[in-house]
Amino acid sequence: MDCIFCKIVNGDIPSARVYEDDDFIAILDIRPVNLGHTLLIPKKHFRNVLDTDVEIGSKIYPVLTKLCNAIKDALNCDGLNVIQNIEAAGGQEVFHSHIHIIPRYKDDGLRFTKKHKEYKSTDEMQEFAKKIAEKLS
Ligand code: 5GP
Ligand code: ZN
Repeated sequence: MDCIFCKIVNGDIPSARVYEDDDFIAILDIRPVNLGHTLLIPKKHFRNVLDTDVEIGSKIYPVLTKLCNAIKDALNCDGLNVIQNIEAAGGQEVFHSHIHIIPRYKDDGLRFTKKHKEYKSTDEMQEFAKKIAEKLS
């Protein structure tokens, strides 16, 4: 499979690694939103969170916590964004699952859109909640 992150995991393409264990690597993003922008990547190839198996999924949060704290301490940032872009509509460009950890500063000027949608009523809001909840039961 011609996957850039599989090649990085295998060491066929160089990267600035900040972490490695049996299941994950973390590397610096080559086009950082802020310096120190890190990508947490499962070694096994998954497309994104939608197809990630439970074993790897259940191991990722402790690593994420460790990385977030390390980045915050190392860079003295004021906050962080943890993001996964899912599918092209969600902004995903590399289709090997990864989580962005972006250091944030009070005055860094980055903003996600403030154009919020509105539910027409609390009934409509409950309908959306029900639709999603039904898929979980
Ligand atoms: P996505 O848009 O799929 O959520 O994010 C893909 C990220 O991978 C982008 O932020 C991009 O800068 C980063 N990226 C793409 N190719 C490489 C590469 O070869 N090395 C590194 N370190 N990052 C990459
Ligand atoms: Zn891959």
